[in-house]
Order: sequence, then C-alpha cells, then structure tokens
Amino acid sequence: MKKKIVILPGDGIGKEVTACGKKVLEQVAECFGHQFVFDYATIGHEAIEATGSPLPDTSLEKMKNCDAILFGAVGHPKYDNDPSAKVRPEQGLLKMRKELGLYANLRPIKLFDELLEASSIKPEILKGADILFFRELTGDVYFGERGRKDEGKTAYDTMIYSRYEVERIAHKAFKAALTRGKKVTSVDKANVLESSRLWREVVQDVARQYPDVEVEHMFVDAAAMKLIQNPRGFDVVVTGNLFGDILTDEASQIAGSMGMLASASIGDTVGLYEPIHGSAHDITGKGIANPLASILSAALLLDISFGLKEESEAVIKAVEKTLREGYRTRDIADANTAHEKILGTEVMGNVVCNNARMLVNCQVAV
Ligand code: NAD
Repeated sequence: MKKKIVILPGDGIGKEVTACGKKVLEQVAECFGHQFVFDYATIGHEAIEATGSPLPDTSLEKMKNCDAILFGAVGHPKYDNDPSAKVRPEQGLLKMRKELGLYANLRPIKLFDELLEASSIKPEILKGADILFFRELTGDVYFGERGRKDEGKTAYDTMIYSRYEVERIAHKAFKAALTRGKKVTSVDKANVLESSRLWREVVQDVARQYPDVEVEHMFVDAAAMKLIQNPRGFDVVVTGNLFGDILTDEASQIAGSMGMLASASIGDTVGLYEPIHGSAHDITGKGIANPLASILSAALLLDISFGLKEESEAVIKAVEKTLREGYRTRDIADANTAHEKILGTEVMGNVVCNNARMLVNCQVAV
C-alpha cells in the first residue's frame, strides 16, 4: 500500500513524541511491505514565529492533499499567561479542524492491565473498562458567537448546535457501537440547556435507526460522577464539544496518564491522529515525555484511515509487550514497583519498534 502521511509535530513535547510515532510507522511500512511517504508541516507557536500565522496556508494545503496526518500538540507559555494575545497557537488547531471538516473526535479509553496499579482509581473498579468517546469537534461554545458588552465588564460565549451537526456524529457513534458492546450513552445537560434539548431529540431520532443498540441519555454532571464510580458501565459515549473536552480528560485518569491516550479526529475526508495531551512546557526538552500516546495514535491511523487492522494490532501488542517487560516512562512508573525500568522518550520508542519487529518476525531493521 502506498500512502502519503503529513507529520505535524507542533510545539513542546509534540516534536519529541511525534518523532517516535513516525518511527513506528516507518517500522510498520518496512515490515509489512508498505510505502509511506512522509512530509512535514508547521502549526502553533512555531508557525506564528516563522510566518505570523498559527496555521500557514502551505501547511493546510499539504494536509488537504495527503492520506492521513500525525499531529503532536500546540502551545507555549507565552500565550498561556497572556489572555489578551490576538494571535494564539490554539487558533491553528480550531482552524485546522474546521477547514478539514474534522467533526468527530474519537478517544478510546482502555487501560493496559500492566498499568492497573499506576492509576489513581482502584484496580477492581478499573479492570475491564473499555470506553470509546465520540466528542463533537466543530460546534458548541467553541464556535458560537462570543463577545463583550457593558464596556467589557460582561462576556458571553454561545452554545450552539444544528440538527445536522448532531446527526452526523450520532450516526458515527451508533455505527461504532454495533462493532463493540452495542450501547451508546449520550451526554448532555437537557434539563437546563436548549442546545442540549435539541441534542437529545436528534440522538433519539437517530437511535430509532439502530434497534440493536441500547441508548441511554445522561446529564453531564451524572456522567462525570459515573465515569469514576463505574467506568465499566460505559461502551460508546457521544457528547458535545465542551462536555467532551472535560469528560475525556477526566477519563484519561482511567488510562493512568495523559501520556497513554491517543485520539483520532475524523470527518468525511482526511483523518488526523494525535495524543490527547498538550505541549507540556514543564517537561519539554528533558527527553522524558511518554511517547506511547503518539505511538498509539499511529496505530489508530493505520486502522481507521488505512484499514490496516493487522498492522495496527501489531503496534498495540508491541506497546503491551513493552509494558509487560517492565519498561516505563516516569509518568507511568509506580514508585512501589522496584523492577520497573525507567526510560526516556527516544529509547522507549525504540523498544516499542523492536518489539513490533519481533512480534511480526520482521527481518528488516530501520
Ligand atoms: P499538558 O497536557 O501539556 O500537560 C499536563 C500535565 O501532564 C503536565 O504535567 C505534563 O508534564 C504531563 N504530560 C502531558 N503529556 C505527557 C507525556 N506525554 N508524558 C509525560 N507527561 C505528560 O497540558 P497543560 O499543561 O494544561 O498545557 C500545556 C500547553 O499545551 C498549553 O499551552 C496548552 O494550551 C497546550 N495544549 C495543547 C493541546 C493540543 O495541542 N491538542 C491540548 C491541551 C493543551
């Protein structure tokens, strides 16, 4: 198979972890006889410094003309402490999602058994939890009308959804549920918000087309509580942009660390794959970032964009093997377990590559 992949490292640890994700893709191409052609594009703080724009047209052009994108993260302390900055790295992110029509963000939340003890939640509650989140990505308060009035003393952001926006992500969630546990939990705040009442109406309409899937509606506050109380009660979760943003970070604790969670942003064209974490200024340049979320994002890319299930499975199994052998980055190390071997970003990536090669009996070294 011949495919064109754009690597979009972005800022901070985005660069460090994406290098590992790319290496794994190269390894897969060698071992399975595929040809992946890589190109690089810029976004975020780095792009602002170079061109004045958080997402230059040249980057967007490359992304529109490739088969899949592996993204790192954007962000820089300069903007975090200056809310008045007019040009900001995350504007590149929002523009990219809008321009590429990436309306659905998928986040699989599954804890590797080897990390049960590393989570802040009790192992007996966590074991077996396997949730797939569908977070809507191009609507809600992030894109509604916003502004200030009363001479700047009052501010507002508008939560807005159209029937069409809810319908298309609901269909994706129900279709995914058919291939999994056949249950969809739709999360909203329909007891208070009009946009949530429309959300619930539309999900109920879509649900009628999937009689084999059980549907449950849950208010966001209850969902936040139940995720921690009984994560095994969820299969597929579908929710809006803001609620999804918050709930998926909460759910990241089920997986032990931000450094373990991958995500896919998809629409009707090219797919974009990225870790859920940000650019992590506190550890940038130290070589200690966990690359597994980027590597698992590469596995999602192989599966969803290219339909390469065996290759994707090989990468996931290589991550499992690496953890079983006791290798950890600092963020997932259990202070009580002496046998764990703490590795830096690059070496951890190399161990996963070697394990992938061993698992598929690959004789070719990259
Ligand atoms: P963050 O996800 O960057 O970091 C949160 C904490 O988790 C930090 O302590 C960090 O060291 C740790 N962490 C994150 N990823 C890790 C990894 N791979 N390995 C080990 N530890 C890891 O979130 P933040 O600190 O709130 O934000 C930092 C910057 O990232 C901000 O500028 C923010 O705007 C940006 N951000 C970008 C994205 C994105 O690009 N999608 C998402 C979230 C935050």
